[in-house]
Amino acid sequence: MDLFEYQGKQFFATYGIPVSPGDVATTVDEAVAAAERIGAWPVVVKAQVQVGGRGKAGGIKLAGDLDEVREHATNILGMDIKGHTVERVWVEEATDIAEEYYASFTLDRSAKKHLGMLSAEGGVEIEAVAESNPGAIAKIWVDPVDGLDEATARAWVEEAKLNPGATDGAVEVLLALYRAYVEGDADLVEINPLVLTTRGQVHALDAKVSLDGNSEFRHPEYAEYDATQERDERETAAHDKGLQYVGLEGTVGIIANGAGLAMSTVDIVSQVGGRPANFLDIGGGANADVMAGALEVINNDPDVKSIFINIFGGITKGEEVANGIVQAMGRVQIDAPIVIRLDGTNAEQGRAILADHESDTLISKPTMLEAARAAVELAAGR
Ligand code: GDP
Ligand code: MN
Repeated sequence: MDLFEYQGKQFFATYGIPVSPGDVATTVDEAVAAAERIGAWPVVVKAQVQVGGRGKAGGIKLAGDLDEVREHATNILGMDIKGHTVERVWVEEATDIAEEYYASFTLDRSAKKHLGMLSAEGGVEIEAVAESNPGAIAKIWVDPVDGLDEATARAWVEEAKLNPGATDGAVEVLLALYRAYVEGDADLVEINPLVLTTRGQVHALDAKVSLDGNSEFRHPEYAEYDATQERDERETAAHDKGLQYVGLEGTVGIIANGAGLAMSTVDIVSQVGGRPANFLDIGGGANADVMAGALEVINNDPDVKSIFINIFGGITKGEEVANGIVQAMGRVQIDAPIVIRLDGTNAEQGRAILADHESDTLISKPTMLEAARAAVELAAGR
């Protein structure tokens, strides 16, 4: 679950990471009121979208008085930044920047450790720094059992060659950032830029936070973040039906049971030259209700030209799956042709049921590869 900058800053603040005072606004009047409440000039009006490079896109503006706040908020609200419409702005007291740094923690799965990255070259995309000057990124791997202590953080900051005047402040921020990352169950916390102000303070000017959605039971307050999630329409519809769905750009709609099988299905469709329209895992029960819901979600995607249903019967038997599909088709008006691969428990019985309903638009194939080929061919032909 990705947070907006303003939420990331609220999250940081609860762990003691210094951020500028500010307020979120969804209208121009609210933005003006927010600036009035801040009461210190200038302020910065910042577009709240979950994509980087807002500054370059014109989504971040300094305002010296209320008229300028009005002008910038008018321009920024409703603006499109890389396909994201700006629905909120964050207005905060402006900072006098001396230097811009980069700091983050994320999980290094292969090392089974947390990876911290710190660079004196902040304010630009870290990927660009990694490309042009990889030596400018100081990395540490933190064993989750040991945690991060002050001496280690200090050595890390020294290795990154920040301004010596920033050392104490940076150590404090990094210790707090690590705590936020671990205790907050985040997958990623990134501050870019982390700034040294002209007054010698170290301060988070931006916040990128991705929380582990599976930890919501430990953090009831995260429901508020969940409510503002930017989801594509297809994902919202699927989410409402309790389906695990990720929208993709292609034309072959995919329904599978189990996340592993769904991923393999996405892979095999790509492998035979097709482009998957989505990932959709219907989970364990492939009954008519679940199948109808899944078909509805896929059917509402105008890019879908064929549908590949890939089911491996386990506890749910083949004939139940087949009956589920047939019943679901009776309930939902499906436009795209469907290719089904049914295997596993009682697959024979299931296929016999499907055979009775086979047509130009309902095709059963015995293997995943054949089914993928058929679905890709059908998508290409429409
Ligand atoms: P991003 O481009 O989407 O990552 O947005 P950021 O929040 O990182 O801001 C981009 C850049 O705008 C920063 O690197 C700063 O150079 C500038 N900026 C943001 N806030 C302030 C501020 O309060 N004062 C000044 N002077 N510059 C700012
Ligand atoms: Mn940034």
